[in-house]
Amino acid sequence: MKPQISPARVEELLKKSGAYLDGHFELRSGKHSGHYVEKFRLLEKPDIAAELCAAIADVFRNQGIQRVAGPALGGVVIAYEVARSLGVTCAFAERVEDKLTFRRGFEFAPGEKVLVVEDIVTTGGSARQVVQAVREAGADPVGAAIMVNRSGKPLDLGAPAIALMDLDIPTFDPDHCPLCADGIPIYMPGSKGTEKK
Ligand SMILES: [Zn+2]
Repeated sequence: MKPQISPARVEELLKKSGAYLDGHFELRSGKHSGHYVEKFRLLEKPDIAAELCAAIADVFRNQGIQRVAGPALGGVVIAYEVARSLGVTCAFAERVEDKLTFRRGFEFAPGEKVLVVEDIVTTGGSARQVVQAVREAGADPVGAAIMVNRSGKPLDLGAPAIALMDLDIPTFDPDHCPLCADGIPIYMPGSKGTEKK
């Protein structure tokens, strides 16, 4: 299981879409970083997202995948497009009281072969929860595919996993941040956009 697309091409697409930001950012973890990946810049460009989704689909094309599942929000787009490329159905998990759950009447056949997909993994928590939810639904999570693994670690998602690209972005404690030391304005990326702090 190895993607045909090169990590260099994935990086090129990330940059072309405007998803790869340079600057000074406060991450949700409280750490600072000189780079941030804003996945919605990627997901808003269907031609670029589709190329990455096709690369994921190609890895799993001959493995009998029957359904593709992903976590809301970003995973909805990815699951839909990978499923379309594979010619199968999709399903979306959404957060209910902090747990990713299949609602909306999504039902899995016993042992149904499911590929779990996610755009960008920082901790792997969401993808791992979807793998678990698939299992709890009685289906078989046979694989997981991530566009960008920026956790800095190998993927541990509870199913055999691949990433199209590994991205190791350095982070700093606020007390020892060279960007703070240089007085560079800091931004907080989030659901409202990227706001100056
Ligand atoms: Zn800083």
